[in-house]
Amino acid sequence: MSLLTFWDAGHGPWVAARAIVRRVKHIGVLTSGGDAPGMNAAIRAVVRTAIHDGLQVTGVYRGYQGLIDSELRPLGARSVANIIQRGGTILRTARCQAFYTPEGRAQAAVTLREHGIDGLIVIGGDGTYRGAARLSVEQGIPVIGIPGTIDNDIYGTDVSIGFNTAINIALDAVDRLRDTAASHERLFLVEVMGRASGAIALYVGVAGGAEAILLPEVPVDLDAVADTLVRAYERGKTSSVVVVAEGAVEGGALTVQHAIAARCGFEARTSILGHIQRGGIPSTRDRVLASRLGFTAVKRLQAGEHGVMVGIDKRGTVTVPLQEVWEKKKEIDWELVEIANVLAT
Ligand code: ADP
Repeated sequence: MSLLTFWDAGHGPWVAARAIVRRVKHIGVLTSGGDAPGMNAAIRAVVRTAIHDGLQVTGVYRGYQGLIDSELRPLGARSVANIIQRGGTILRTARCQAFYTPEGRAQAAVTLREHGIDGLIVIGGDGTYRGAARLSVEQGIPVIGIPGTIDNDIYGTDVSIGFNTAINIALDAVDRLRDTAASHERLFLVEVMGRASGAIALYVGVAGGAEAILLPEVPVDLDAVADTLVRAYERGKTSSVVVVAEGAVEGGALTVQHAIAARCGFEARTSILGHIQRGGIPSTRDRVLASRLGFTAVKRLQAGEHGVMVGIDKRGTVTVPLQEVWEKKKEIDWELVEIANVLAT
């Protein structure tokens, strides 16, 4: 057979590609790790896009634990009605020890096969992707990740679902605290979330006009912070706000408060914002981001792409291999760090 006849007989590269890429017909979706506002909008986008494209969708409850315990429910277009504006996740989320073991993941694969699910979309962070990648390699199940965490510490996307809402909530708190700080001529320390990342603190500090911003990415010199505050006082500032990322200093903002009080005698108060930053109505940006990423995840999965996270950057929606996401570190916005230093003076 000549090469041309071989191709004409249907053995061309496209046929081969089609044979390798099994068409996904039934998608499972779950949320895992910490919850983030906008996760519901992502679930909704996955479900509606899949149904639009003639696929079946099943929701897995309580992350990987629900996959192991077979806590699944079919999702239709109506079952995701009225959730786009709700924080948290209707699918709930959990941390799952059993999924760290090959046996746990094998059990999860049994559940997926029993339900006829041939593709999985996971909404979460780094840990969620590590688990998903292992499930995929060991059990041959195509997976795609969607970044959902308020911390914005995920490599491969400029922003993750939940970050924008979290900074708006934290900023609102900083603005309110500044009113009190100004009225009482006090120093206020505000501790924000972010684990090992200072992204929330940096944005909130810049937007809230903080006199100092303490980040895990920049070594903290408490003497220098105290000097800055004293100089600000001498220049006529009667109140100050310092934003502290939870991972910046061992012991958090309270440690900073005591250290500063000891150095310059300012009366200070500390407010730890904690979990209120994770709840609440998702912002417009988070809802649109989640809609975009949910839609793209379903489209890419159908196109045969898997083992990747969908993200967003200057080029638009992009995909990044899952392994790259957890191996590489997302850098803090160093330009904004410099701007913060200049503007705080
Ligand atoms: P996040 O996804 O927000 O980073 P976690 O790190 O808690 O949250 O991970 C969520 C879940 O993903 C864990 O409870 C566990 O079930 C699973 N997971 C995390 N890391 C791994 C791993 N190395 N191998 C297998 N599963 C993992």
